[in-house]
Amino acid sequence: MTTAATPSVGLVGWRGMVGSVLMQRMQDEGDFANINPVFFSTSNVGGAAPAIAGAAAGAAGKLEDAFDLETLAKLPIIVTAQGGDYTKQVHGELRSRGWDGLWIDAASTLRMNDDSIIVLDPINRDVIDAGLSGGVKDYIGGNCTVSCMLMGLGGLFKNNLVEWGTSMTYQAASGGGARHMRELLNQFGTLNAEVSSELSDPASAILEIDRKVLAHQRTEIDATQFGVPLAGSLIPWIDADLGNGQSKEEWKAGVETNKILGTSSEDRVIMDGLCVRIGAMRSHSQALTLKLREDLSVGEIEKLLDTDNEWARVVPNTKEASMAELTPVAASGTLDIPVGRIRKLEMGPQYISAFTVGDQLLWGAAEPLRRMLRIATGNL
Ligand code: NAP
Repeated sequence: MTTAATPSVGLVGWRGMVGSVLMQRMQDEGDFANINPVFFSTSNVGGAAPAIAGAAAGAAGKLEDAFDLETLAKLPIIVTAQGGDYTKQVHGELRSRGWDGLWIDAASTLRMNDDSIIVLDPINRDVIDAGLSGGVKDYIGGNCTVSCMLMGLGGLFKNNLVEWGTSMTYQAASGGGARHMRELLNQFGTLNAEVSSELSDPASAILEIDRKVLAHQRTEIDATQFGVPLAGSLIPWIDADLGNGQSKEEWKAGVETNKILGTSSEDRVIMDGLCVRIGAMRSHSQALTLKLREDLSVGEIEKLLDTDNEWARVVPNTKEASMAELTPVAASGTLDIPVGRIRKLEMGPQYISAFTVGDQLLWGAAEPLRRMLRIATGNL
């Protein structure tokens, strides 16, 4: 029910990959009852705003212009999943006009600013609350892989038990957005079509199938979004080249982990690794090597992880459980963050491995923003 106190919230980027998951989650959790949504667009101004079941009055209507600063500046809260270019173009202009509303954003642009907070409330609610009472206005969702790692391994990170770690990632196509998912599926389709007659003949030579697939990947396949074929291959580089051998995605692991945890310089956790795009549709996986500050038993580690938050879930380190529960197919569409393959490594008693999978569109993107909006409106 809309009341005079119901805040108007600008929603930008609601039809993209992150935005549509965010809209779905907000509907599932009844969040639209707490706000008066105002929908924006960069490409279809004046088009019909989405009809949101159970939304407060004012939801229906036309799409506003996402670049119209005057309209944006009237809102006390703006939530955007439009992307970094949009944030760069609009956020600074709005602030320089004196707008002092809350800006809740999925893009990385403002994440490392001194006056922003990276939101992941099951891990850093204290940091968020201190920011709100201290007048911080920019609340930014973390990098998807970092957020999923911290949700799964919060029991170790929050208790300052990790001295350093490497995260070797296996990141899904949807990390690039809606168009990247379509491209991956089209690539799988054209690869299959290329050899469909050979596949239907069990007697056909596998080397000939392989040759035709490879020739198609190397010459004809459409790789407009990813730049190179992803179907039947992988891409060992994600995001910009920082010029020092590290990708921007890899750099985020260290800086964002520490910013989210609010570590001091003495407690700083060293995190680094390689980020790799694979042909999964949704959910990012990562293989971790952690050096712990203490020699904890596997049982103690599992208990810490399992009890840290309601979404982290330890998967027994067996072949059956790992294959059934620790894959993108198992994790996608759920808020669970399964963590498995936990064992002591040969390097010594303080070195452990772990493997975790999380739906990066949920805990890695939409969910922290949705929950931040609830916190900001006094509903969480
Ligand atoms: P996206 O799917 O490309 O959507 C961004 C915008 O692209 C949409 O709001 C839409 O704006 C426009 N668009 C153009 N063609 C579209 C189409 N065919 N379908 C849907 N939208 C289309 O991007 P995204 O993956 O949601 O990422 C948004 C932001 O979140 C980025 O800053 C990204 O870095 C960040 N992020 C993404 C993930 C992830 O896993 N994907 C995770 C964490 C953070 P209009 O409606 O105005 O045209």
